[in-house]
Amino acid sequence: MVTSMDIGVWILLFLVGFIHSSESKYIAYNTTSTIVPGKLNVHLVPHTHDDVGWLKTIDQYYVGSNNSIQGACVQNVLDSLIPALLADKNRKFIYVEQAFFQRWWREQSEVVQKTVKQLVNSGQLEFINGGMCMHDEAATHYIDMIDQTTLGHRFIKEEFGVTPRIGWQIDPFGHSAVQAYLLGAEVGFDSLFFARIDYQDRAKRKDEKSLEVVWQGSKSFGSSSQIFSGAFPENYEPPSNFYFEVNDDSPIVQDDINLFDYNVPERVNEFVSAALSQANITRTNHIMWTMGTDFKYQYAETWFRQLDKFIHYVNQDGRVHALYSTPSIYTDAKHAANEAWPIKTDDYFPYADRVNGYWTGYFTSRPALKGYVRWTSGYYLAARQLEYFKGKSASGPNTDSLADALAIAQHHDAVSGTSKQHVANDYAKRLSIGYTEAEKTVAASLACLTEGATKTGCGTPQVKFQQCPLLNISYCPASEVNFSDGKNLVVVVYNPLGWKREDVIRIPVANEKVVVRDSNGKKVQSQLLPIPDAFLGLRNYHAAAYLGISPSVNPKYWLAFSAIVPPLGFSTYYVSNAKKSANISDRHIAYKSGSQSDGFEVGLGNLKLIYSGKEGKLTQYINRKRKVKESLEQTYKYYPSYGDDGTITAQASGAYIFRPNGSSFPIKPNGKSPLTVLRGPIVHEVHQKINSWIYQTTRLVKGKEHVEVEFIVGPIPIDDGVGKEIATEIKTNLTSSKTFYTDSNGRDFIERVRDYRKDWNLEVNQPVAGNYYPINHGIYLKDKSKEFSVLVDRSVGGSSILDGQVELMVHRRLLNDDSRGVAEALNETVCVSDKCTGLTVLGKYYFRIDPIGEGARWRRTFGQEIYSPLLLAFTESEGNWGDSHVTTFSGIDSSYSLPENVAVITLQDLGDGNVLLRLAHLYEIGEDIHLSIKSSIELKKVFRDKQINKITEVNLSANQERAEMEKKRLVWQVKGSSREPEVSRGGPVDPEKLIVELSPMEIRTFVINFNH
Ligand SMILES: [Zn+2]
Repeated sequence: MVTSMDIGVWILLFLVGFIHSSESKYIAYNTTSTIVPGKLNVHLVPHTHDDVGWLKTIDQYYVGSNNSIQGACVQNVLDSLIPALLADKNRKFIYVEQAFFQRWWREQSEVVQKTVKQLVNSGQLEFINGGMCMHDEAATHYIDMIDQTTLGHRFIKEEFGVTPRIGWQIDPFGHSAVQAYLLGAEVGFDSLFFARIDYQDRAKRKDEKSLEVVWQGSKSFGSSSQIFSGAFPENYEPPSNFYFEVNDDSPIVQDDINLFDYNVPERVNEFVSAALSQANITRTNHIMWTMGTDFKYQYAETWFRQLDKFIHYVNQDGRVHALYSTPSIYTDAKHAANEAWPIKTDDYFPYADRVNGYWTGYFTSRPALKGYVRWTSGYYLAARQLEYFKGKSASGPNTDSLADALAIAQHHDAVSGTSKQHVANDYAKRLSIGYTEAEKTVAASLACLTEGATKTGCGTPQVKFQQCPLLNISYCPASEVNFSDGKNLVVVVYNPLGWKREDVIRIPVANEKVVVRDSNGKKVQSQLLPIPDAFLGLRNYHAAAYLGISPSVNPKYWLAFSAIVPPLGFSTYYVSNAKKSANISDRHIAYKSGSQSDGFEVGLGNLKLIYSGKEGKLTQYINRKRKVKESLEQTYKYYPSYGDDGTITAQASGAYIFRPNGSSFPIKPNGKSPLTVLRGPIVHEVHQKINSWIYQTTRLVKGKEHVEVEFIVGPIPIDDGVGKEIATEIKTNLTSSKTFYTDSNGRDFIERVRDYRKDWNLEVNQPVAGNYYPINHGIYLKDKSKEFSVLVDRSVGGSSILDGQVELMVHRRLLNDDSRGVAEALNETVCVSDKCTGLTVLGKYYFRIDPIGEGARWRRTFGQEIYSPLLLAFTESEGNWGDSHVTTFSGIDSSYSLPENVAVITLQDLGDGNVLLRLAHLYEIGEDIHLSIKSSIELKKVFRDKQINKITEVNLSANQERAEMEKKRLVWQVKGSSREPEVSRGGPVDPEKLIVELSPMEIRTFVINFNH
């Protein structure tokens, strides 16, 4: 008879025997496991999240300097990773940020590079996401997102021959529709993972097991734009107690029975219970654990040692099944599970992580950096075109360094405005260095083109072109010369758009005796506008701040004239001395203090603005031709920022968070502020000094039917100890029924409804901050008869807080940190010899009112002109410039123009006779009756004097053939999917006819090879 006591003794004896026999100490952990059907599979995904700049600069993070701020060294991660992966071929790792990886790769020996290539080939090391950085999704423009992804993807393709399969946007603060469909599905990703969604949304999705969805981000592309998307249950870190960096305090798996604190059963139990709780909120029997977080795996072995043990012991235990995995393996497992997934449309904005924690401040944070990023982005597009016309130089100046700087600036702590100040400075410095090199490229190309040397190749051109990157602050030494000594200023005006364009050029000049002529020598109508003190002060202060010089000349006027420029080409204009003065604007003070002056009207064409004499403000918008008449008021206001109230739950407004303290305060002009009205043949302007730190110009330009508003805001006063967030608002009488539309990364417009979310019943805690959305391109609203649109020159936050009203937050200056990690108050300053003042921001926005259904054309076509301003280059000429130079040029056939609904968003010389061409249809389906249609582009005319040898359509990031991508695309089942209208896309390109069709919202990317 065997008693239970005997069994106990037996077990004890057995264990003692076991201990003795295992004294050899070596345990071969069984990590070979793959997916086991019928069990809960816990996909362990080892990863590190390496911010391309945040608390430290990208280079400091890479080399591991400045560790007093944050102990982080990416070099350690990558160095220690390789031996850790080699130690066990079952271990896996994903790497994301190519800006870091490329730094490291360049420094490795051939031997190490070969080893890494093997690790990539075997799937142990997988590149995912694969852009230079994990770009932000709110403050980024789609063209920048494409460019930075392309840069990373093509590098990976060239070095490793692989194409990343997975979108991995685990840290950005809310997620955009454009990310899902354009930078996801159109790149060829099979899935997209992220972490940050609204806390109310997350709670509901956990309940309904709908954290994982099929996301259909595009109205125009319907189901063909779907991508499997997963929001993590909490964040992108491991479950609590499973952190294994060297100094982390999670209990390690102590499995040496000769040592104290043996804990294998406890640790296995904890693992199983964490897995089961996640399984409770997840469909299918696959769950993912993101094993890592910010800058982890600096000593990779510490993580892998524990993961080896977990896989070994958890699988011995058998209740759940653990395996080394990657998001690709996980995605394939989800796909194989044959589940029908809930569908998600639109986007995940705005993001709140708790009550009062709306991450909508960063839509505007660092507005000057945001403006600089957008401006350099447009410049980069134009510079690449000009670089292509000349032929890219590998050794000389080229656009590569600007490409790199712009890519890094898209990071989710860069253009978002959420880095520390010294890091923001680093981003701006990189952009400036990149710009300077691109500027040389542009100057050289224009010199070649004007010297007519394109066909024979360009040697060393003689002409030296200057450009004026500080033209926005009216600083342009090239145009401020004294013409009276016979100088003849040559202005070459380049148009990066594919259609002919007329636009007003505005340059500062030193005196009034000037005349403008076109390339035929014909006098061109011009207008001089006296430069107000507000602009001169801004100019001189910032010239000193940026250049360290005080300008010796004070220009007296802006010279404005209309330039007409061919598609992808340039025109030339001359400014020279005149016997008599040019047309100086008629200037009158319309609203003097104390006077009851009459109302007045401004505007040169169809569009008029009416100002009230009684109140001295804009009251009406009238476009007689379009039969639009609307009452309108435009003002400024500020939101006092919530500060630190001393409580634990305090939520201050900060770099990320917008938390107004109560309602807004109007910023009323002190007393009666005079309106200065300037009128002339080119432009009418109304200047208004709102107060000592806000100055505004309202501009109506000949031939344009929109209003341009230029504002100077700052330094925002903080001497009352209150941070302030400045918004401008325009009120109309449109009955917009709580509904407005904002763009997704400058592309699709998404419907927003105030105090409402489609996906859950919104509990409104922040009636303003919770209704703010990112605006990269524009915002509009409509009623039964009209639509009112506002377009912006950079990313800003904005909303429609009242029916008929639109507001944009243009600047913010804050005194507290908002406790999301940056640990600095967003209080930007500008310094001249160590004396600093609060940052001033100069920017523009544009608005227009159209009859219902007619607004899209302006938003799209003119919107593209805002993104791609005319590029100006200046030089001086003694004699007759036109006698010895090419004065008019078009890169395409002179009889040809791209359709108005298509833009060339990339024209880039790839070397070896290859060119990257990206064409974008600018309209959504149904947006405009005439322009939301299929368009055709004749490549033979685009590349007029070249012979196309081969044309290959590639995916959006140009790392694989489009057809290949289509073949691999995973199709997902969707719950309750309904029939949809047929999706339209352009057909294949016939290599003989060479005509590219584009359907609404379609972007097509081609690698084109030319015969020499
Ligand atoms: Zn991050």
